[in-house]
Amino acid sequence: MADDDQPLEPFWQRGLVAARAALRCRARSKRTKLRCRAPALTGWQVCRFHGARGGAPCGKANGAFRHGRRTKAVVEARQAVKRRWKENRAQLKAIADRLTAGAAAEFPVANLTRPRKPQTG
Ligand SMILES: [Zn+2]
Repeated sequence: MADDDQPLEPFWQRGLVAARAALRCRARSKRTKLRCRAPALTGWQVCRFHGARGGAPCGKANGAFRHGRRTKAVVEARQAVKRRWKENRAQLKAIADRLTAGAAAEFPVANLTRPRKPQTG
């Protein structure tokens, strides 16, 4: 009884094709040693039974959130600044070393140490 403007398969069957094409859970059963085969959640390699979306929520949604000074973004930014400081210090040291080496070559001084006190007795 299918009209010409009606698709051959019902609507739900098209959704089923997409569901069957979904990435499969990579978990393996301890009991049977077989793969889980359930569809993995979007952005995850495992299904909802095997740890997808597990753990506490991030940011303000987390119950331990206080002030935001320890959020991932802030910690990463702080580490980036520290890395930059370290690089700058190394560059400054290299420049200073080159300058002192140039000065030593330009003004050779035999002995820069303090003259010794003459020995008595
Ligand atoms: Zn699974």
